[in-house]
Amino acid sequence: MISLENTTLLCVISAPSGAGKTTLCERLLAEFDQLNYSVSCTTRPPRPGEENGKDYYFISETEFHERIQQGDFLEYASVHGYQYGTLKSQVLQGIETGKDVLMDLDVQGAFRLRRTLHANQEDALLKQSYADIFIAPPSIETLEKRLRSRGKDPKDVIGRRLDRAEKECARWSEYRYLIVNDDLETSYNILRSILIAEHHRVRKS
Ligand code: ADP
Ligand code: 5GP
Repeated sequence: MISLENTTLLCVISAPSGAGKTTLCERLLAEFDQLNYSVSCTTRPPRPGEENGKDYYFISETEFHERIQQGDFLEYASVHGYQYGTLKSQVLQGIETGKDVLMDLDVQGAFRLRRTLHANQEDALLKQSYADIFIAPPSIETLEKRLRSRGKDPKDVIGRRLDRAEKECARWSEYRYLIVNDDLETSYNILRSILIAEHHRVRKS
């Protein structure tokens, strides 16, 4: 009897802020029970409506540095002047219970994670499980409109996010998949198809 073993996924999604990653990921998490979101730590203050432990663990700079020293992070990076880090415990908890893990990482974090997985033999299982997706906006003008209409960031913050977006988008080819998020329904269908296809992948490297 033929069957695929080890089909647990470690799925990384990157996108410039405002490209639609949260919208797409929330829908994916609502549809797929086997998908666990890895809640990151950040030193950024919460935006209106964000909850500690659900969106992020909002921690101080001091606690973030203590956690780096303790080796608690699988990867971490500085983005828009704040620290963001993925807790090893969040990822391992998911993998060990046979669930897929969805991680929201910036381009530096995804780059570092790929490098770590390549370098460490003991992470072979994680490396085999790894798949990454870049979500791009159709244009910088559209991205600006989305950031403004979301209405969660002050003007100067939006300016900084746009400056960074072009640099981030230039790195799309480092990823296994690219979704240009123009029409939301089309993008969501592509995203869910990727998740399903990854579970049926035979060649893992
Ligand atoms: P991110 O998590 O990448 O920062 P969000 O998911 O918060 O982005 O989306 C930014 C804004 O753009 C939100 O107001 C969201 O409703 C809207 N949005 C997301 N995808 C689309 C799309 N395909 N078409 C139009 N608006 C979108
Ligand atoms: P935001 O402040 O808009 O929620 O996120 C800003 C950026 O930080 C986004 O590009 C997001 O992907 C990234 N990010 C969120 N969590 C992590 C993390 O744990 N590690 C890294 N490297 N980036 C993260």
